[in-house]
Amino acid sequence: MRLYKTGLIAGTSGNVSARIPKTDLLAVTPSGIEYELYSADIMCVVDADGNQLEGPSKPSSETPMHTMLMKAMPGVNAIIHTHSPYAMTFAVLGEYIAVVSVEGLKFGAPRIYPTDDFITPGSSDMGRAVLTAAGKPDAAKNAVLLRNHGLVVMGETVAEALELAQSAELTACVYYQARLIGNPFGLTQEQISRAAGQYPVCPARASRVPAI
Ligand SMILES: [Zn+2]
Repeated sequence: MRLYKTGLIAGTSGNVSARIPKTDLLAVTPSGIEYELYSADIMCVVDADGNQLEGPSKPSSETPMHTMLMKAMPGVNAIIHTHSPYAMTFAVLGEYIAVVSVEGLKFGAPRIYPTDDFITPGSSDMGRAVLTAAGKPDAAKNAVLLRNHGLVVMGETVAEALELAQSAELTACVYYQARLIGNPFGLTQEQISRAAGQYPVCPARASRVPAI
C-alpha cells in the first residue's frame, strides 16, 4: 500500500514477494487485483518453484522472477518490482542510472544497470537477466532496471526493499533532471564505499549475486 500511495506503482502494475520465515515459501502479491482492494487474505503463498499453495487468485505473473532471484540470493528476503516512471525512463533508454547523491549510497555501487535485452514479462528468463545486470563490476547488487519495463529491487527485509524502491526512483529523477541542464558527476565506488559508514550498506549485499 505504501508503494501505491507514494506513486511507485499504479493500477495493477508491480508486485512484491517476501520469504515466509523458517520455510522455503514465499508470500507474493496477487495478479490483476487493484491495490485499494488489498488485504492479507488475498496474498498468495507459493513454494520455492512457484507452485501456488494458498490465495484466492493467481499469484503475480512475475512469480518466476521472484522465485528464481530468491533461490539465487539467500540473503534477500523481499523483492519489489515497480513501474515507477523515472526508473522506467532509463529502462526504456537502456541506460544505467548513475548514483549521483546520498540517496543512492544504499546501492553500494555507482550504477543501477538495465538488463541487456527486453525480456517477455512473466518469463523465467527475467531472473537470469537481472542477475547478469547485477553481476557487472560497478553494478548495484540490489537494484536492476528491466529493459523497456521497470525496476526490481532486492532487500533483506520488506522495509529495506521499500526504501530501495523509493531511493532508486529519487536517484533516477535527480539524475534525469541534472542531465537536462548539465553533466552530472556520478559518485565513484571509492566515494560510495568511504561514505558507507554514514549510510550503512547491508553487509550481505556484496555477496548477494552468484556467478552464473
Ligand atoms: Zn512489470
